[in-house]
Amino acid sequence: MNTQQIIKWLKEQDSHKLDQLWQQADRSRYEHVGNQVHLRGLIEISNHCSRQCQYCGIQAGNRSLQRYRMTMDEILTCALQAQELGYGTVVLQAGEDFGLTTEWITKLIYKIKTKTALAITLSLGERNDSELRKWQQAGADRYLLRFETSDSELFHRIHPGHANKISDRFAILETLNQLGYETGSGVMIGIPGQTYDSLANDLLQFQKINLDMIGVGPFIPHPASPLGKQHANLNEKNNPDPNQVPNTELMTYKVVALTRLLCPQTNIPSTTALASLNQNNGRELGLQRGANVVMPNLTPLQYRKLYEIYPAKACLQEKPDDFHKHLINRITELGRTIGLGRGDSPHFKAKKKDNVTRFTLRRKTPTPKIMQRQVRRD
Ligand code: SAH
Repeated sequence: MNTQQIIKWLKEQDSHKLDQLWQQADRSRYEHVGNQVHLRGLIEISNHCSRQCQYCGIQAGNRSLQRYRMTMDEILTCALQAQELGYGTVVLQAGEDFGLTTEWITKLIYKIKTKTALAITLSLGERNDSELRKWQQAGADRYLLRFETSDSELFHRIHPGHANKISDRFAILETLNQLGYETGSGVMIGIPGQTYDSLANDLLQFQKINLDMIGVGPFIPHPASPLGKQHANLNEKNNPDPNQVPNTELMTYKVVALTRLLCPQTNIPSTTALASLNQNNGRELGLQRGANVVMPNLTPLQYRKLYEIYPAKACLQEKPDDFHKHLINRITELGRTIGLGRGDSPHFKAKKKDNVTRFTLRRKTPTPKIMQRQVRRD
């Protein structure tokens, strides 16, 4: 698919044609990642943040927000609960909080790995190469860092630099890939200033940068964030700027479906932001239009309401046990099964196999003379 074809789909309004897109995406999902829906237990471990992201409700400038950082024991309790509920993975997410030190996170990873068989996904913002390496060596399996938009002018406008350092999320994603993390990224849909051209380019970037997991969700204005103060929700048909991508539920399904077609072997979540726009069946429609992952929220309720990156998050009142039963029913009703085990994406498995092969080939290069002599003596 090229840019023009992608833009055509993004602007498509004919429901019959869109039905074809949903069907193609669903077929591709079935062929490449199967019928299982993988569940990831999300733990929002801290809402402290040192950044000023213009879109986000927990950015540093929001002075009225009560801040929290979970203790190691609280996080471990949630991880054990994830294991009991049968999840294969926990996702540890936070604002960009340097109070979560390299050593503390390393210790947390060791503890979770000692007490559970869970895969660990980190989503802690832009951290440096050396800590990413340490965490990977300690046992972290995956890392999520959305590039938010591939339009660098727009990105820097909504995501100001930090301590005189310009953010380069693409460089960090490359490092994560090289370190051997299963690497996830994604974008928000309908950011004020986001054009169809730039969204089409985002989709092509997913392919180009070799991602294993891709999460996309609508931009939801938060009244306590600078962007949220300026912008109300946009409407797909009645749009004052024809180049502006609307932040609608329909546009999100289109991007989920196109992501599946462009990157068929990746894991794609049906996101909470999507479920927040349509609490009735947004999550299910996402799963039927390309997605194969859901991230139930395991954050203790007293903290969950403080991790308000956008308002009216679908999960605010969901108690883990009740929500789990509800989710299992809904997934089964769709004719899908619950994923067992870690649920690595086929894309990652193929990449790993490829690396192992290359590694083995390298090991098969002629044995140095000194070693040959030793071998003969033995
Ligand atoms: N500090 C981490 C985690 C941020 S929250 C990081 O920066 O990576 C995870 C994601 O929530 C963000 O990457 C962003 O895409 C999304 N998000 C933040 N504010 C949002 C909003 N107002 N509407 C929709 N999604 C939002």
